[in-house]
Amino acid sequence: MISLAATETATAFVEKRPLERYTAPAQPSLVGMPRAVLAQALAEVGVPEAQRRMRLQQIWHWLYVRGAQDFDAMTTLSKDLRATLAQRFTLARPPIAAEQISVDGTRKWLIQLPGERAEAPHEVECVYIPEVDRGTLCISSQVGCTLNCSFCHTGTQRLVRNLTAAEIAAQVVVARDRLGDWAPTSESTRMPAPSDFPLAGGGERRRLVSNVVMMGMGEPLYNLEAVRDGINVIADGEGLSISKRRITLSTSGVVPNITRAGAEIGSMLAVSLHAVTDELRDQLVPLNRKYPIAELLEACRNYPGLSNARRITFEYVMLKGVNDSLGDAKALVRLLKGIPAKINLIPFNPWSGTQYECSDWDQIEKFSEVVFAAGYASPVRTPRGRDILAACGQLKSASEKLSARERLALRAMAMTD
Ligand code: SAH
Ligand code: SF4
Repeated sequence: MISLAATETATAFVEKRPLERYTAPAQPSLVGMPRAVLAQALAEVGVPEAQRRMRLQQIWHWLYVRGAQDFDAMTTLSKDLRATLAQRFTLARPPIAAEQISVDGTRKWLIQLPGERAEAPHEVECVYIPEVDRGTLCISSQVGCTLNCSFCHTGTQRLVRNLTAAEIAAQVVVARDRLGDWAPTSESTRMPAPSDFPLAGGGERRRLVSNVVMMGMGEPLYNLEAVRDGINVIADGEGLSISKRRITLSTSGVVPNITRAGAEIGSMLAVSLHAVTDELRDQLVPLNRKYPIAELLEACRNYPGLSNARRITFEYVMLKGVNDSLGDAKALVRLLKGIPAKINLIPFNPWSGTQYECSDWDQIEKFSEVVFAAGYASPVRTPRGRDILAACGQLKSASEKLSARERLALRAMAMTD
């Protein structure tokens, strides 16, 4: 376990430590594999069909409940099977190039994934944001992004590649490793009983990583199959067990895939709205030219299972003099009328070379009052002055340190329920 003893000075909020040196994987890892892929792997090493279901169940438990790092730990499997698996596969996690720990407990990991050349891995960031009633992990779905929202640093990078389902789910495994967030291993041969864990509200197990938001790098709905399969691993009730109600996928508005996501994934949805007119949204989120606001909101209205207890989160980045007038605030609440919605106002997190500035705090407050008066709780109302906050977006660009602004933005984004 990493100590939380970060030193706070006027400039350094964050303890940084470089970790593993990257070496390209020589053998495939089982970590993050969806059930069907794992079943195939077992078939390949000669596990007879009649045993496959049971073996898969056992391995699943070791991987995703116990967090096993070594085949020898899998004591419910025969020694022979453990040896056979170890010849062909590993339990390696994607290496962490750097870890930052903030005084408020926020952690940011730079995770390495295989690139085209063995010596040049890709990097994505993953951020853990602890709060009193939950711990939210912000994960990535692509290296880079094909869309180019004008206020987003990821949009300036050309897409490098989609993450696989295993790489998506492995981010949760990495976080549980670093946080020591696995089931106790003392009675390692039996399945855990509910009494093994202190209960949180609703009878769920209390885990450090209780929620996942797909708000790191990339557009998840342009990598829909891998995102679907990765989310199914994360949500699997016999494994990582983070229910789909606690998983939020954020999209810039890929309308046809919102409908597919509703039917095929069933997680919570966040939509990056950011503007109330097509004219402005065309500039901020160029995908709007293809799928304008009216079509986007229609897809949102039709998203399955919406109710007051199950709402769509609308993200709205606060850009000074661009989209932050009180007229915009009023138009925003009018626009969302009739949709079970939450509104997350995200302070803009600046990056070098951007043409935008974050709205003044007073303006954000006034904007949020309009939103609040219309019946929406707005998470940016509370944070000011608190030792502060954490947020997603922007991750890789600001990897030097977690700035107060970045943490504020991250925290606002993480408040999806
Ligand atoms: N591609 C998806 C998810 C990743 S971006 C999407 O666009 O929704 C996650 C959120 O971060 C989005 O709402 C995005 O608009 C926001 N974001 C991007 N750059 C930002 C910045 N510089 N400051 C604040 N929020 C930002
Ligand atoms: Fe891509 Fe989302 Fe950034 Fe737009 S905001 S460029 S969709 S990551």
